[in-house]
Amino acid sequence: MDSKSLFAKAQTLMPGGVNSPLRACKYVHAEPVFIQNARGAHLFDVDGREYVDYVFSWGPQLLGHQDPAVSEAAHKAIDLGSSYGAPCFGEIALAEKITELIPSMEMMRMVSSGTEATMSALRLARGYTGRKKFVKFIGNYHGHADAFLAAAGSAAATVPGTPGVPEEVTSHTLLAQYNDLDAVKAHFETDGEDIACVIVEPVAGNMGLVLPKDGFLQGLRDLCTQYGALLIFDEVITGFRVSPGGAQQRFDITPDLTTLGKIIGGGFPVGCYGGKREIMEHMAPVGTVFQAGTLSGNPVAMAAGLATLNRLADCDYDALEARTKALTDGLAEIMAEKGKPVTVNRIASAFTMYFSNKPVTNMIESGQADGETFATYWQQMLAQGIYLAPAGFECAFTSFAHTDEDFEKTLEAARKVEF
Ligand code: PLP
Repeated sequence: MDSKSLFAKAQTLMPGGVNSPLRACKYVHAEPVFIQNARGAHLFDVDGREYVDYVFSWGPQLLGHQDPAVSEAAHKAIDLGSSYGAPCFGEIALAEKITELIPSMEMMRMVSSGTEATMSALRLARGYTGRKKFVKFIGNYHGHADAFLAAAGSAAATVPGTPGVPEEVTSHTLLAQYNDLDAVKAHFETDGEDIACVIVEPVAGNMGLVLPKDGFLQGLRDLCTQYGALLIFDEVITGFRVSPGGAQQRFDITPDLTTLGKIIGGGFPVGCYGGKREIMEHMAPVGTVFQAGTLSGNPVAMAAGLATLNRLADCDYDALEARTKALTDGLAEIMAEKGKPVTVNRIASAFTMYFSNKPVTNMIESGQADGETFATYWQQMLAQGIYLAPAGFECAFTSFAHTDEDFEKTLEAARKVEF
């Protein structure tokens, strides 16, 4: 069956034909292609077409698809049984590796998705501090747990409100614009006694890529310390991507809790939250804050995640960053020549090209970028074999598997786009 027929059938079985909304490609006025397989930096669809991938399963596949060491580790693990619901060595091995790379995560809990990680970290912060409120940034996305669905980014930004989430639940969610330290200060001045935590994407990746301004993360750290609130870095995207030790290493700020996902499962469903021992020991069964999971610490995900982190140790982050910069400089030059100036936000192997001639530092400015021009660009790039996230407010990811030919093909395709 071809993509068109599969999508027609899928729509009879799943809302919008998909298991996660953005995949439906609604925001670029297109239908999705169905993927048959993936290797290295390339995707292959059921229609026999090949694409240079810049989505990589929304981030996890930093090594590219089917990295031999990761695949071998996963296959070996499957041969030993795919799930036990009992402790296994792989959980320790991955936890030890994570704590070595991110020392602020002295203790951690494995879960099965980023959503579970952030939801559990919030519960822990509330349980630990005995406070209800928390600060979240407009346009940051922390998964789809109720409390976070107030002015969330990514696909959640595209639905008008979020029916199904009672106001009472989000009434404890205090909002601030990203990069606006004064707004956070104002919340602390009004509600400081009641604020359990500030949760932030240390580099925002769900309103397009937005970098923290100088002093923003340190300012959050200082405010949390001053008011006895916890600082949670949601590193589901940035962890092991913006540097081997995540955003906290790159910006030299130590959060109290960190949430991880994506990369630490090597493409298998996984998430993790962790931080200071003294805080983590409030989790059951040592403490009284409850959280559990049948598939938590799944041996296949642990093995693939460990193999991924081991492989990343041999990868040259600086070289990939330099190559990614060259790619984005090239794209910006091409768009400028076409009379479509762009603003590129970029860090390490992630970037967003906004069709806007203004800096993008928060959700308001991200929303001012021209989504229709992006849709035109996206459609023509796809037709030429370049697979980008199907919304202007998402990141593009490069990987250690991309070759110079892949980047050249991307630039060549961009040159041929007509607006
Ligand atoms: N946090 C951030 C920063 C994310 O980007 C995402 C997903 O993209 C999540 C949390 C939720 O992760 P998951 O989709 O695995 O539930």
